[in-house]
Amino acid sequence: MTAAVPGTVYLVGAGPGDPELLTLKAARHLAGADVVLHDDLVPAAVLEHAARAIVINVGKRCGHKNISQEQIDAMMVDYARRGLSVIRLKSGDPLVFGRAGEEMDALRAAGIPFEVVPGITAAFAAAAALQRPLTDRRNASSISFSSGHHAPDSSLEPASLAGATRVIYMPGRNLARITTQLRSEGLPASVPCVVISRAAQPDQQIQRTTLSELDRIVPGPAPAILLVGEALRDDMAAGEWLTASGLAAVSVESQPAEI
Ligand code: SAH
Repeated sequence: MTAAVPGTVYLVGAGPGDPELLTLKAARHLAGADVVLHDDLVPAAVLEHAARAIVINVGKRCGHKNISQEQIDAMMVDYARRGLSVIRLKSGDPLVFGRAGEEMDALRAAGIPFEVVPGITAAFAAAAALQRPLTDRRNASSISFSSGHHAPDSSLEPASLAGATRVIYMPGRNLARITTQLRSEGLPASVPCVVISRAAQPDQQIQRTTLSELDRIVPGPAPAILLVGEALRDDMAAGEWLTASGLAAVSVESQPAEI
């Protein structure tokens, strides 16, 4: 075990929100860091590990509304050049939808050494919440992670993903566009869909439906993630789902996580 090295940047995954889902390595680096630059989604309980660091929220929602990616890059480089150990803390895994590519490019260009510490991405927290494998040899042979934030006319996924469990990050509040897109790719109306809000957090909410009714779901509080695929079907058999044609084809349940 080595301590955080001065002048080095660590791109660290904070996990999905439950502080116990932080890796030991992440906790150790946080404890030794001089500066922590974190996103909005990182909960306070995780930041508590950074006992001696200057902690700065560089998130775009509640932190610095106008902060640009270039400014964040410059802050990392600046602090590292001053000989401080810097943690760039991102929710989930730092390399999944986190702009880490741009940040690593900036660090390379500036000649700053860096290390990546992986974290548990939201997809896996969602699967754990549902107690549902994302791959299952009976019905799901692959997993796809995509973002709901897309250019209006772009397809979510190539058609080759017929047997995949699709995990759609950042689905947004209005699921109509994603519903239309999935239907136009040929997914049947009956395919199970689950929206999980704040997975692995005490106020987690799960909403289940089928693709035919997905556009009627309003996701719970952010962050929320959408899962689509036959691998989620067993929940229907368990009777927790209402029929696709029913008026209330949505069930909402809260599952307080033990924190
Ligand atoms: N790097 C992160 C993803 C960042 S993008 C990761 O690996 O998880 C932000 C999106 O992730 C959110 O809009 C939401 O779709 C998803 N997300 C992150 N944490 C989540 C959580 N606890 N529950 C549900 N979705 C979550």
